[in-house]
Amino acid sequence: MNTAQLFADDDEFLEWTRVHPDAYVINFRANRSADYIVLHRASCRTIAVSTQASGSLTSGAYRKVGSPDPKVIDSWIPKNIAGGQCVSDECIICKPRK
Ligand SMILES: [Zn+2]
Repeated sequence: MNTAQLFADDDEFLEWTRVHPDAYVINFRANRSADYIVLHRASCRTIAVSTQASGSLTSGAYRKVGSPDPKVIDSWIPKNIAGGQCVSDECIICKPRK
């Protein structure tokens, strides 16, 4: 059974994306605002590049949740983000569901 994984730190996240490049990731704010929940492919470069201090991908202003199954992420959102019904946007770089 696939589950949604909330990454504890950048190393865990980056290792997971290396092992699961075809999986899906949502990037959302640390305050879990429903108006910013963006879906990516795990291989998307825009979520892998940390230009700031270590931890900025997963423990600074943003958090990430990943799963091999986008339906798992779709069902994680309303259970974990107040007012969140679904992703607010999909990345125009990696086009995760195309
Ligand atoms: Zn992307």
